[in-house]
Amino acid sequence: MQQQPSPTPGTNPGTSIAQKYGLQRSPLWPGVEKAALAKYLKCTTCAGDQTLQVHHIVPFHLCHLVYRGDLELDERNLLVLCEENVKEHHLLVGHLGNFESYNPGGRAAIETEFVGLTSQQIKNNPTWQALMKSRPAPWDQMTHEVRLALRQYLDTNFPFIPTAKASAPFPFLDDGIANPEAVATTYH
Ligand SMILES: [Zn+2]
Repeated sequence: MQQQPSPTPGTNPGTSIAQKYGLQRSPLWPGVEKAALAKYLKCTTCAGDQTLQVHHIVPFHLCHLVYRGDLELDERNLLVLCEENVKEHHLLVGHLGNFESYNPGGRAAIETEFVGLTSQQIKNNPTWQALMKSRPAPWDQMTHEVRLALRQYLDTNFPFIPTAKASAPFPFLDDGIANPEAVATTYH
C-alpha cells in the first residue's frame, strides 16, 4: 500500500495539496472550521479529542477543480477526524492513505465502518481493503470521464445551495479551457 507520511500534528495537509493545484483556502474557512470543531468535538473514528482536523469528505481542492468550491465551506462535506501519528484516522479513514484521494464510501462509511478501530485494525479490515481497491485517483491522474463523473457525484450528493452571489454553480465541461473565475470561487 502506498501511504504518505503523516503530517506534523496541527498542520493541514489539505492546504498544501490545494496549493499544488494553485488553490488557497477561502478567507471564510477559519470560521467554518471552528464551527465544525464546536459541533463534533471529537474524532468520528476514535472519539479522541486531540489533534483534531476538519475533514472534507471530498477534498476541497477537487471540489474547486470541478467548480463546486461551495463545498469547501458546506457542512454536508465536513466531519472531524484525528491526525495523531499513531491513529491516523484522518489519513486512513478519510483519505484511504493518500491525502490527494478520499473515501468513496462518503459520510456513511466514515461514520459507521471504522468506529473504535486502531490504525492497524483498519488496515486489516476487509471493507477498508475493498475501498482501497476503488480509491479515487489523484486529480492529475483522473481521466476526462472521471472528472465529469466527480462533478456529477457532487451535484447528486450535495445539490448546490443558492447563495447571495450565485443561483447555480458554473458548468464544468473539462473541455481543456479552464475558467479561472469558476475555479477560485466558493460562491460566497
Ligand atoms: Zn481518531
